Amino acid sequence: RQKSLEAYAAQPAVTADGTRVELAANIGAAAEAEAALRLGADGVGLFRTEFLFMHAKELPGEQEQYRAYLEAAQLMDGRPVIIRTMDIGGDKELPYLELPKEANPFLGYRAIRIGLSRPELLKTQLRAVLRASAFSTMKVMFPMISGLDEWRQAKAILAKARLELEQEGVDFDRNMEVGIMVEIPSTAVMAGLFAQEVDFFSIGTNDLVQYTLAVDRMNEHVAYLYDYFHPAVLHLIRNVIEASHHAGKWTGMCGGMAGDPLAAPLLLGLGLDEWSMEAGRLSRTKETLSRLDRGACRRLAEDVLRLDTPAAVRQALKDFAAVE
Ligand code: PEP
Ligand code: MG
Repeated sequence: RQKSLEAYAAQPAVTADGTRVELAANIGAAAEAEAALRLGADGVGLFRTEFLFMHAKELPGEQEQYRAYLEAAQLMDGRPVIIRTMDIGGDKELPYLELPKEANPFLGYRAIRIGLSRPELLKTQLRAVLRASAFSTMKVMFPMISGLDEWRQAKAILAKARLELEQEGVDFDRNMEVGIMVEIPSTAVMAGLFAQEVDFFSIGTNDLVQYTLAVDRMNEHVAYLYDYFHPAVLHLIRNVIEASHHAGKWTGMCGGMAGDPLAAPLLLGLGLDEWSMEAGRLSRTKETLSRLDRGACRRLAEDVLRLDTPAAVRQALKDFAAVE
């Protein structure tokens, strides 16, 4: 078993009916890209850049960030790398930023909210990504977007970074894709409107579950309620994928659900375009996908979206896996 799983690392992810699926890795540091490539990732679907900030004593400058993003791309041997702008706040602290103490940090000053209130900080990061994009395939996405205003403000800061580089004669990829994380229910509900403006979505189930079900993802006392198989979460995911496809855009998933073999038939059936997970889960996911038929998975998704509890969903997925 172990040996056959290892063999999947060297192969692309292909379903039983011959559909090629894009499998990417989540990384928290540039050096992790080496293992991601070795374990068979088609790219980096989520570079959690906040660790670059958390492991430093002071704000990392543009040059330092540029080197880190480019290093990740080089280690990936030219495969695409999605940089997520820093997601500080919530449970992630940053001593030198002197963030406020809050009663509800997960509902507070976090991620893009910090970036928009301190645009210099976000602009520096975007300049670093743009500069790296001259030499590699970079994409960028903004975390914790809750409404179109935030997205447009973030885009305006990106436009400013582009203009500056242009004026300085510094090269960058003018077609770099720009997307958002969908991890707040308001954004999942409004995916149709977002899809007109973004290049792609990446669904962050870790937070989407927390905010949809009002269950703190760190709180063991309510962990029994924390479940991405909750029908409400599944309906949001379907809405996001369908909205993106209607507009000719694509949707990835970088939350924990993407790496769960039980979820794979459902996500394939819903039409998910890109799956990003811890690199250690790639082979198992490829093995699972290799046994799946897309038509059967579409029918499964239709059935599952009619179920009314997480337990019923889980059971249906287990039944499907057992006969597959
Ligand atoms: C998510 O929320 O699903 C996600 C991928 O982001 P993070 O886990 O870093 O909050
Ligand atoms: Mg998140």
